[in-house]
Amino acid sequence: MDFWLNDEQVMVQDNLRKFLDAEIRPLDDRWGDLEMTADRARPMLKMLIPWGYIGGGGTAPGGGDPVIRCIQDEELAAVFPGLGGIASISSGAISLIAANGHPEVFERLAGGFRSGDLIGCVATTEPEAGSDPSGIRCRAVRKDGAWILNGTKTWISNGSIADIAVVLAQTDPSAGPAGFRHFAVDRRESPFQSREIPTMGLRSFPTSELFFDDVRVPETNVLGGWRSAQSTSPERAFARTLQLFSHARAWSAMLSVGIARRAYEIALKYVQVRRQFGKEIARHQLVAAMVAEMATEIDAARLLCQRAYTALGRGRADIEPSMAKWYATETAVKVASTAIQCMGANGLASENRVERCLRDARMMTIPDGTTQIQKLIIGRALTGMSAIR
Ligand SMILES: Cc1cc2nc3c(=O)[nH]c(=O)nc-3n(C[C@H](O)[C@H](O)[C@H](O)COP(=O)(O)OP(=O)(O)OC[C@H]3O[C@@H](n4cnc5c(N)ncnc54)[C@H](O)[C@@H]3O)c2cc1C
Repeated sequence: MDFWLNDEQVMVQDNLRKFLDAEIRPLDDRWGDLEMTADRARPMLKMLIPWGYIGGGGTAPGGGDPVIRCIQDEELAAVFPGLGGIASISSGAISLIAANGHPEVFERLAGGFRSGDLIGCVATTEPEAGSDPSGIRCRAVRKDGAWILNGTKTWISNGSIADIAVVLAQTDPSAGPAGFRHFAVDRRESPFQSREIPTMGLRSFPTSELFFDDVRVPETNVLGGWRSAQSTSPERAFARTLQLFSHARAWSAMLSVGIARRAYEIALKYVQVRRQFGKEIARHQLVAAMVAEMATEIDAARLLCQRAYTALGRGRADIEPSMAKWYATETAVKVASTAIQCMGANGLASENRVERCLRDARMMTIPDGTTQIQKLIIGRALTGMSAIR
């Protein structure tokens, strides 16, 4: 175990920072706090391709050096968190299709994802099924050699700009969660409607409602069950969803570290030059304490993330992603709020960017399992007793 970056990791970080500062930061300044469109997102995704953000990797097993993956995710989040979100969710969608989809479907879609022309989303949550995804009602019925999809999904990241939605639906209500299957729904051949839900933060990372009204999905687009219509194991779709949450939690945590770091860096510069009572405010002990707390909490969150990414990369993650997720997301809220405090009224001004960090950070304690749900998961693992059900 080494707590310091090696030469290769430092080089990756330096190069990334130069690229992100020069090319991506101006885009965040312009578009980061506005509603995103697919036409605006695609060229930005293409810019990220040479840097390994699109089409897999991330926290996936075999996804390369986990510390480098952490660096990549943190650096992008510190500059343009909304774009980091779009890239990560899209990559998650194609990873699911790569691992479980019909080779023909994967071949047809993979090129578009790798080139940044296709955007993906993963749709689990429904109006009546949030923290408890076992309550999913979206229904898929097999009819005339296809699946007919009906239902509503909500709070789906990338939903309004997605070309491909990986949708979790019930195919056998009598089987409960064992009757769930995933479908790769290609909006071009299986059109569905969407509506963006405006939010307080991460405004350039759309969250949307998706409406499936008798949407016809080809038989080959079922994930996992395409080899034989009869001999499928649909219950694996639910297990796959839980596994996916594990990866998403580690990434959400890293995104939050990036947001927190941005807030901290803005405040740090400010307290070194702002003068009150005849000296820089950094020389006042209570301000120095706020700086120390922010830096320590960000470091602690980052280390939890690196451990979670490493555990996931080795295929042996247990409670590490949950620990990283609740701690890092709550830390980001606290750090962004402290950063505002360090800057006084100037911290509240939109033009100084730090208030946006608080709005962005506030978004992340909810998705991929709320803070409360992460603590229940950790508690269950440690005590062997479940408070969930
Ligand atoms: C920014 C963002 C992006 C998202 N992206 C996606 C996406 O891409 N795909 C997707 O499918 N979904 C997505 N979601 C949905 C997200 O996964 C759900 O919002 C989350 O699981 C919580 O569900 P809920 O909002 O319905 O809250 P609820 O489940 O209704 O919970 C409300 C409150 O009750 C608490 N609570 C619930 N059950 C318990 C319990 N047993 N014990 C203690 N407290 C409990 C919760 O912690 C919370 O505080 C996203 C949400 C957000 C905010």
